[in-house]
Amino acid sequence: MTATPAAVLHEPGDLRIEEVDIPRPGPGEVLIRVGVCGVCGSDATEYGRSLVLAEPPVVLGHEFAGTVESVGEGVTSLAPGAVVVCGAGISCGECKPCRRGRTNLCRSYKTIGFASHGGLARYVIAPAGITLDVSDSGLPMDTLGLAQPMAIAVHAVRRSGLAAGDDAVIVGVGGIGAFITVAAVATGARVLVVDLNPERLELATALGATATLRSGDATLTDRIDELGFDVDVFFEVSGSRPGLQSVLEAAPRGSTIVPVGIQRGEPELPLGHWTLDEMKVVGTVAHVFATDFPEAVRLLGTRDDWSDIAPTAYPLSGLLPDALQPLLDGSPAQIKALIDPWIEAPRPADHSR
Ligand SMILES: [Zn+2]
Ligand SMILES: [Zn+2]
Repeated sequence: MTATPAAVLHEPGDLRIEEVDIPRPGPGEVLIRVGVCGVCGSDATEYGRSLVLAEPPVVLGHEFAGTVESVGEGVTSLAPGAVVVCGAGISCGECKPCRRGRTNLCRSYKTIGFASHGGLARYVIAPAGITLDVSDSGLPMDTLGLAQPMAIAVHAVRRSGLAAGDDAVIVGVGGIGAFITVAAVATGARVLVVDLNPERLELATALGATATLRSGDATLTDRIDELGFDVDVFFEVSGSRPGLQSVLEAAPRGSTIVPVGIQRGEPELPLGHWTLDEMKVVGTVAHVFATDFPEAVRLLGTRDDWSDIAPTAYPLSGLLPDALQPLLDGSPAQIKALIDPWIEAPRPADHSR
């Protein structure tokens, strides 16, 4: 077998770029030649803090796009050369959530890039059933590398029930919040984005936000009123306690709160008020491949340039210093760092069509 470089997580704090064998697709699987793979907070958590999903030693990477290199036995939906994006989440198709279309809640759900070898490598194996042929989309590879996080945003917005004519507030526009902004704006709702960082607020405007607000200046409730918003849905994306607190205070009767950012510890919740005010609190996790992925790719086609989200593609050697470490430090220079496993030096991302 031919050796090829991959980013292997051995244990937290021990990530190595090493040579691995090119894998072979089994029945129902495809071998994908990775074009680009995004890096996110989950990768940083597994590397830098503790193992939540990862089963090392494992090749990281769950946000990849590429071309089909070869197909395993029984695969008829994809042919070599097809440009593809991958959902990364593997579901069984048989348990009750799967039968009801909630494949992201599959009782044996696992994720490529954590539970099996992922796309921070030149080649990756994926089930054909979660690999979408996007050859006709006309989108460049670097843009397609954003499909998986966009699908997660599409799912969060779908879960919220946000619709045209509604008002939404998004607290926190780093990482997934930027994608949620795009998905929320696309519903036809008015979208107010709240963040501490002025540059991120500028980005939110570029992504189509109706209004932006620097958090911490005044109470969120007062500012929402001043801006003339009557909020139906709050997305709390920061995962911070002050972010959650401001949303709990500002949420009017009958509104929906989507805690997208995962809160640590046990926040005190006003359950009595939630009962009497018919509040809705909605969880969201991952995405439903069959519905959220095609919509994510469609949304990627609605902007001409994604350089403001993902400006640079780094080589595998840049994974730790340029992608994971900035995420761990809480100071990433870009919303999304892309890794191109075929280059030796960073290059500007190519989003041109
Ligand atoms: Zn991710
Ligand atoms: Zn299942």
